[in-house]
Amino acid sequence: MLIYNTQSRKKEEFKPINPPKVSMYICGPTVYNYIHIGNARTFLMSDVIRRYIEYKGYDVKFAMNITDIDDKIIRQSIEENVPSSEVAGKYIKAFLEDMDSLKLKRATINPYATDHIGEIIDLIKTLEEKGFAYNIDGNVFYDVSKFKTYGQLSGKNIDDLESGARIEINEMKKNPLDFSLWKKAKEGEPSWDSPWGKGRPGWHIECSAMSCKHLGETIDIHMGGNDLIFPHHENEVAQSEAATDKHFVNYWMHLGFVNINEEKMSKSLGNFFTAREVLAKFPAEAIRLFFVQTHYRGPLSFSEELLSGAQKGLEKITNLAETLKLEEEKNSTSSVNPEFDFEKYYAEFEKEMDDDFNSPKGVAVIFDFVKNVNKVIADNESLHVEFVKKAKEFLSKTAEGVLGILHFDDLGKSKGASLEDELINLLLRLRAQAKEDKNYKLSDEIRDQLSGLGVQLKDSKTGTTFTIN
Ligand code: AMP
Ligand code: ZN
Repeated sequence: MLIYNTQSRKKEEFKPINPPKVSMYICGPTVYNYIHIGNARTFLMSDVIRRYIEYKGYDVKFAMNITDIDDKIIRQSIEENVPSSEVAGKYIKAFLEDMDSLKLKRATINPYATDHIGEIIDLIKTLEEKGFAYNIDGNVFYDVSKFKTYGQLSGKNIDDLESGARIEINEMKKNPLDFSLWKKAKEGEPSWDSPWGKGRPGWHIECSAMSCKHLGETIDIHMGGNDLIFPHHENEVAQSEAATDKHFVNYWMHLGFVNINEEKMSKSLGNFFTAREVLAKFPAEAIRLFFVQTHYRGPLSFSEELLSGAQKGLEKITNLAETLKLEEEKNSTSSVNPEFDFEKYYAEFEKEMDDDFNSPKGVAVIFDFVKNVNKVIADNESLHVEFVKKAKEFLSKTAEGVLGILHFDDLGKSKGASLEDELINLLLRLRAQAKEDKNYKLSDEIRDQLSGLGVQLKDSKTGTTFTIN
């Protein structure tokens, strides 16, 4: 399996430190608002990557931190006139709900920054003792000049970094690239006791402390959006490696941005859709298909039109899945077991996904599979139970298990569809059952009654679809 490593800027063979265990860390949300669909893509693609690594037989420990103390949260708490812990609590709940609605697997652990103040203080103390940190009147900074390989992850030299980046401006710093490890408390702000007085941690140190506590000093994979390479991840490397003298991360993976009209989707530009707004209109599976049809590293243009296109495409997969589900219930013992090379499709799917998680090509293999299984269905009167089982298993392992674009248990009750659609789908399932029971009187009656209401049915080998006049 090849993974593109930001550190080396090339694809490298994946060799976990302690197989079959794999440790993965992703920088999670700062909880001061609802997440937008751009944030959602980052988390959703990390879910697909994690699921594929699990598909390969690894035992993944997946940590996604929650930044629950930060300037933005404090600002929001002043705006809403509630304590910052209340702001964080409200948006943590919303975040986890959104992740569940998008059908992400829950992380193995979601560590909160405010639960790790002790570990953070210990880490800063170590950095101070080793000469990598300095304290100015209760503000502790990291001294970048002491870390000789600073800039290596982002591939920049110190001069470029100084001129180009969004670095924190603070007159107390010795060097513009130095960054806060501990911020002295300001009047009315949440704070904790520390050897440097009351204050709160900087953002970067949280991730170094939490990844070390939960995954160890060296971890297999660290992920985050492209924007985090510098300064956030560069600073994590500087902190962790200076403190432990160990290599911090073996594979750095960065996920591409969602754009809207050629601009980055962001809260500050105001050009965003929240994940929950989009989920109210489209089922999670359609959103997931839309995302996995673009490589995780590439940029992705967002529009509802493109999302509708993905939803249409998804029908091909769900129609076949529904047919297979019905066939399975029939438990047909037809003696003809059609020739079909299932292994070929597994091999193709794995070949694409092994190549740095090439999900667009992985999806193409699934569509090709659907097309060819449909041909078999069209050519055969009834299907052998073994064929149905294997076809369903393929979709279940790939489309459902890895990509999450299909859920056999949820077929027919697609979230985001209207109650009207769901009721029609219910009638269609009852009609299919009536036909199977050779109760043609009832199945015709359902069709005619629906037609009387302006709902036209179209039967095909792969199932029934409807249009409303
Ligand atoms: P934040 O809550 O702002 O810290 O962002 C959470 C995650 O979403 C980070 O990994 C960001 O890199 C990522 N992110 C922010 N904006 C976008 C976007 N437009 N497209 C994709 N990922 C994004
Ligand atoms: Zn982080």
